[in-house]
Amino acid sequence: DQVQQYRDKMISSIQQDYRLENALRRELANIKTGKASGFECWLQSKVDDRYRIAGAEALIRWRHDNELIRPDHFIPVAERLGLIIPIGEWMLRQVAPVIKATGLPIAWNVSPKQFLHEQFADTVLTVMREYNAPLSLLFIEITENLLLHDHDKVRAIMHQLNSKGVNFSLDDFGTGYSNLRRLQLLPVSELKIDREFVQNAFESHRDRNLLDSMILMARHMRLSIVAEGVETQLQADYLRDSGVDLLQGFHFHKPSPIPDWLQTLDN
Ligand code: C2E
Ligand code: CA
Ligand code: CA
Ligand code: CA
Repeated sequence: DQVQQYRDKMISSIQQDYRLENALRRELANIKTGKASGFECWLQSKVDDRYRIAGAEALIRWRHDNELIRPDHFIPVAERLGLIIPIGEWMLRQVAPVIKATGLPIAWNVSPKQFLHEQFADTVLTVMREYNAPLSLLFIEITENLLLHDHDKVRAIMHQLNSKGVNFSLDDFGTGYSNLRRLQLLPVSELKIDREFVQNAFESHRDRNLLDSMILMARHMRLSIVAEGVETQLQADYLRDSGVDLLQGFHFHKPSPIPDWLQTLDN
């Protein structure tokens, strides 16, 4: 019956989570002992108003049982278990040498749990120094839900890092709760318009107006604007002509492993 079916589904999803948890823990043990892990750091280019590569965003991948697992599947589990803290540091250790080698700005995604961890600012500064990578080329992507947490604490950490040159970018802008007045009190230098807005804008007039107002608002706040999820030339040209500073999306580049990305830079 339905209840039984529901129960079976629940049990199987709990078992799946449990397997995922154990596999994640094993990966971390590998990282800690210096063994190769299944994690990979991929990069996706951001392009400027002449559609030239101007930097990239780092996106984690996990190769597990011959499958490439997308972050949406394992990041929430890693967050729940606190494993996101060492995983995040591992990502920063992949990002720092790329910054050093290319002199390009690279964005690093950070979840609230990571950000609010006591050692967060120290870890960022230590790792960047270790690789001799300039802090002014690190963009930390935070999401709106971080701003729901202890605002004074968040602000203090952001100011501490920003005073040393680190930049902050507000990711998925428009999808969550945004208190614009509070946002203005924070050292955020870049807004990333979520791909949902970019894509809907080309389907309805009302959504086009929404996108236009978001761009206008960001420009009034003197923030640099990145549009993500750009999939067509039409979208790219429209966004560029509306004053969006950087474009990111499959139309230009799909995410790729660091060595491949470095090669596209040379071409
Ligand atoms: P996000 O930060 O919003 O990253 C953008 C997502 O959009 C990426 O998915 C990217 O592959 C995808 N994307 C880029 N261009 C296009 C496009 O033109 N069309 C479409 N349909 N999609 C596009 P991905 O790599 O699967 O990452 C999903 C989410 O996982 C990220 O969303 C981010 O929130 C999280 N994430 C990824 N890497 C990390 C990490 O190292 N740490 C943390 N804490 N979160 C991460
Ligand atoms: Ca992001
Ligand atoms: Ca995003
Ligand atoms: Ca997103």
